[in-house]
Amino acid sequence: MTLTEALDRTTARQREIEEAARIVQAEMLYWLARLDPDDIMGSWFGDVLPGLYTSLMRGQTRAATGASAYVAEAAAIMGLDASTAYQVAPEAFAGAAADGRPLSSMLTTPALRARLAVEQRGQSPAWAVGQVRNSVLLMAASETADAGRGAAQVAMAGTRSVTGYIRCINAGACRRCAVLAGRWYRWSADFHRHKRCQCYGTPAGPGGDHPRNRRIPDWRVSPRAYFNHLSTRDQDRLFGPGGAEAIRAGADIPSVVNARRNKTQLKRLDFGGTTVVSTTEGVTRHGWFSYVRRGLERVEGRPLSRLRLTPEAIFRLSADREELIRLLGRHGYLTGSAADIARL
Ligand SMILES: [Zn+2]
Repeated sequence: MTLTEALDRTTARQREIEEAARIVQAEMLYWLARLDPDDIMGSWFGDVLPGLYTSLMRGQTRAATGASAYVAEAAAIMGLDASTAYQVAPEAFAGAAADGRPLSSMLTTPALRARLAVEQRGQSPAWAVGQVRNSVLLMAASETADAGRGAAQVAMAGTRSVTGYIRCINAGACRRCAVLAGRWYRWSADFHRHKRCQCYGTPAGPGGDHPRNRRIPDWRVSPRAYFNHLSTRDQDRLFGPGGAEAIRAGADIPSVVNARRNKTQLKRLDFGGTTVVSTTEGVTRHGWFSYVRRGLERVEGRPLSRLRLTPEAIFRLSADREELIRLLGRHGYLTGSAADIARL
């Protein structure tokens, strides 16, 4: 079955990205161990941040590498014409968070919070350092995965026969993702996700939302099959005891999940919104802000005000596929023959 084979390719791609995230986290533990509880910010800007920054850049590049090959192979398995003049440029996906913040600024937020916790709320420095470690490791996994996902979406944009993608969930998917399993989205649609979401898109052709896809008994694209393959304990944990009981009794999964009115809805992330300015202003003096800003600019090697558009922002701003490909090319995410990109 074609879709099943394409899903296997998607699962292999998910594993590549998980591996990239694991490597980043292992490297980061080395740098985080150098965080000095008695001088959190001093050690942060000294050794720790440059190390974390380099490691995350490398991880994002690693996760974006292989996106073009993945889209070409999965599209071919789906019976689509996989030829394209464009290739994803993996390095372009490193250096910014998915919401457009510079990495240095995003990574520094937990350190700033830790300093506040110690100085204003009297928390112990050792506790604060532990919080920094946890937050940074979660960010690293999330941003690495987003680079991989963004690169695949850019690769799909550059492959004209791909007109949509099917949402493929991963083991352990939460209930909000579970109900979206197997759903078809237009190729340019935002990939709705949450922090640490591990869903991935399988390139697909036209045809809209195929109910038939969702009836394939493969748990990666079928909410019901996913639910059934879970243990009773996991069903209760992920869907709530009452919800799981109702689904076991035959209730419709989406209506059970939607009835729970989740506080955290899946949504697209904002781009270019929060910079270090909004995270430090109001709670710190001007001199402190300059200190933080200088530290970040030293690590970035550029003024913080000169930001590049994220792929997500470009998707949102473009009127059509032509313009999108042109903008992705101009911002360095897609490479192809220069003549091609200039002509568009
Ligand atoms: Zn989820």
